[in-house]
Amino acid sequence: MTSIAVVGGGFAGVGAAAMLARAGYRDVTVFEREARLGGVWHHNTYPGAACDIPSHLYEFSFAPNPRWSRRYAPQTEIQAYLEDVARPFDVRLSTDVKAAHFHDGRWTLETSAGEHTADVLITACGQLTTPAIPPLPGLDDFAGPAFHTARWDLATDLTGKRVAVIGTGCSAIQVVPAIQPEVAQVTVFQRSPGWTIPKGDFPYPGWAQRLFARVPLLQRLDRAANYAFHDFAAYALSHRKTKLLAPFRAIGSLQIKRAIKDPELRRKVTPADEIGCKRIMLTDDWYPTLAKPNVDLTDQRIERITADAIRTADGVEHPVDAIVLATGFRAHDFVAPMAIAAEDRTLAQEWAAVPRAYLGITVPGFPNLFLLYGPNTNGGSGSVVATIEAQLTHVIAALKERERRSARTIVVRREAAQAFDAELRTALARTVWHSGCTNWYVDEHGNDPSQWPWSWTEYRRRTSRLDPQAYETG
Ligand code: NAP
Repeated sequence: MTSIAVVGGGFAGVGAAAMLARAGYRDVTVFEREARLGGVWHHNTYPGAACDIPSHLYEFSFAPNPRWSRRYAPQTEIQAYLEDVARPFDVRLSTDVKAAHFHDGRWTLETSAGEHTADVLITACGQLTTPAIPPLPGLDDFAGPAFHTARWDLATDLTGKRVAVIGTGCSAIQVVPAIQPEVAQVTVFQRSPGWTIPKGDFPYPGWAQRLFARVPLLQRLDRAANYAFHDFAAYALSHRKTKLLAPFRAIGSLQIKRAIKDPELRRKVTPADEIGCKRIMLTDDWYPTLAKPNVDLTDQRIERITADAIRTADGVEHPVDAIVLATGFRAHDFVAPMAIAAEDRTLAQEWAAVPRAYLGITVPGFPNLFLLYGPNTNGGSGSVVATIEAQLTHVIAALKERERRSARTIVVRREAAQAFDAELRTALARTVWHSGCTNWYVDEHGNDPSQWPWSWTEYRRRTSRLDPQAYETG
């Protein structure tokens, strides 16, 4: 029987356990370094943390949950859902996988609980795992609490405090409205604004939840409608269809005008770059919150942080009691800090120029290794849960091919991976994400190990089967 080790207990790891079980694989072990499952939904406990993809799309297609309390479920519900789905499977919590080495047809994992061997290794480590802490001058001199949104300090009570929030991405726009009513003052430090559209969130009353439970088709239809909308957006963004994107920009402008009367604040929060270049943010309360009397937004560069203040480039000292770093993630580190090697070659060496993988899943020279949510499988719209399902379909097809050929190993051919990569890079160049803004997809050298440059329907098509010519077995 094929033994499979899965590293990571977020959506990808739990999805792997569930889909592999459905495909008949029983010897599957999931390793999660934290004491609970959830991945990003374990780490992001900041006030206001919730999904910004409708929950009927942000759930496994094979495990629909009719009981979501809202259209966009909050963090606690999503984590509970994942724990529920994972219940039947072999999950080793609080077990850190430090390294994995492939030798003589098998993977050996070095874990905090000892060695573990398996035929197949699946990494499910997420892209938004490691917080990015910017090198802000003087950050270490700050005397009060300072923490990242993904490492929220639950012991710190922000009530009545003057709070700095650095960053204006998807995390910041959720956290600021959530803390504003309790704190004395919020100062938002914006480097560059992003476009938003209304979220349209609402609770599902009990009768609606009962209806979804009784008539599952309704939930499936809602999922299909959301999928179609998101895939339309994925197509427009990846093909830089400015005419299709213009209505979103108009809606975003209107959202600003409606909520903000002060022309100076309006100017500051109105992005200059193309809509979609940064991830489009969904919100109903960001601009109304910015217009509140205890909220201030500065677009001046942070010059220095002192023991009790943040000084900006215009010479203004902003006195603060606590700092929230809503500064995003080291999204290009992928499996780090886990060290992966096949025989004498490390994945870090293979990825020295830029992380790349065939369909974001397999890497030449690394047999029996499959990456979930790997390089170039993020999008500007769509549900990563659906992407993970597509990837697992491909993984299972590869495992079946390996069995069909009675082989021990399966690995993508270098020529196939290179041909795919060349096609991908050409397509990436025409996407909206490469239109000149700063975003977490493209690094300072113009490398993009993040984005999928076509629609999600195209991704599903490509991953739904295995091209036997692309893989070799041994
Ligand atoms: P992010 O989108 O990368 O935003 C980071 C913010 O910090 C940006 O505004 C950035 O400014 C700013 N920043 C970074 N370094 C800075 C510095 N040195 N000085 C000043 N400002 C700095 O991170 P995020 O908001 O955590 O979101 C990341 C991704 O997580 C999202 O795109 C989304 O995919 C996901 N997410 C999802 C949800 C959800 O579903 N509910 C919620 C949160 C996050 P620039 O824009 O100028 O770089």
